[in-house]
Amino acid sequence: MSTISTAVEARRRRVVLLGATGSIGVQCCDVISRFPALFELVGVAAGSDVAGLSSVVQRFGVRRSALVSPPPGEVLPPGMGSGVEAVCELAAMECEVVCVAIPGAAALLPTLAALDAGRTIATATKEVLVMAGEMVRARAAATGARILPVDSEHSALWQCLRGERADSVSRLVLTASGGPFRERDPATFATVTVEEALRHPTWTMGPKVTIDSATMMNKGLEIIEAHFLFDVAYAQIGAVIHPRSIVHSFVEFIDGAVVAQLGVPDMRVPIALAIADGRRLPGIAAPARLTDGAALEFFEVDAARFPAVGLARSAGERGGIVPAVLNAANEVAVAAFLERRIGYDAIVSLVGDAVGAVANVTDPSLGDVLDADAWARRFTSERIGGAVTSA
Ligand code: MG
Repeated sequence: MSTISTAVEARRRRVVLLGATGSIGVQCCDVISRFPALFELVGVAAGSDVAGLSSVVQRFGVRRSALVSPPPGEVLPPGMGSGVEAVCELAAMECEVVCVAIPGAAALLPTLAALDAGRTIATATKEVLVMAGEMVRARAAATGARILPVDSEHSALWQCLRGERADSVSRLVLTASGGPFRERDPATFATVTVEEALRHPTWTMGPKVTIDSATMMNKGLEIIEAHFLFDVAYAQIGAVIHPRSIVHSFVEFIDGAVVAQLGVPDMRVPIALAIADGRRLPGIAAPARLTDGAALEFFEVDAARFPAVGLARSAGERGGIVPAVLNAANEVAVAAFLERRIGYDAIVSLVGDAVGAVANVTDPSLGDVLDADAWARRFTSERIGGAVTSA
């Protein structure tokens, strides 16, 4: 018996990491480096950062690597693949878990490739579930692939729901910090600078999700993500503002019990839990100190200040291709804001324009989703008056 358990322990969990050079990817590498006896990084992919990906390959002795879109003319190290197809091959390779941390719509095809190969995925890319939640769920069901959340709120819900019956759940409630503009006068939103919007009060994250947190589009996208991850109706998914980001989300049960997950804001906790398939690893973060005197406060979301939440919720309820349009328009608008081509207050209104103009397609195919994504990028770019931003 001891021989068997030793053999199981001796088998390291093979991890494929897509998006190895971004914020989540770097933190995933940190977790893996702290537990060399538990994890083996067997495949890594990134967007276009040749030097960053090469250094991960060397540091961990990774056998396979690929870039989604290497800079034109750049000579890649021997063995490094390029293009979406090469990344999809990585996503499907033999392993215990594929961590998906490529931001945005670019993660869709690699995610589907991993699910079609029956791989367990740990996903940090909510955009994929927003764009194509029905399809992602169907592909996972067809091969028995499992989808584990890395997003901190959804990891919290996963932890709260472990061991509970589905019919015991009354409501999922996502917490949101409210971002940097929770108390700023909305009349001044047109003059918000990129630097102000990137100054998140509690979390250090990549630029796209930080802007989404400021507009609270992030919470809207997360409502859709929660709907697909946990198969709970939109009417049973709420959001509240909790400025300290200590309570990461909570579940209300039918008996009136409320179960929450608390912790310091450190993405390595949900990353480690997901890549270890729910096993808790020691010392990832220090426990939150609840006796430090600071109150845990909760507020309702002000719909007038944060129209993105209701916009995303109604896009989710409409279903079909509308969430894909919401997501693509938002990606284009956020990129334009970061490039200082539009004002902060234009982000959500551009997304509203796209969602308002689309003719829905119910039960969409992959082609329908990709068409909707392309249409919304074109539509929004034309409104902005710039070039089409590709996925
Ligand atoms: Mg989140």
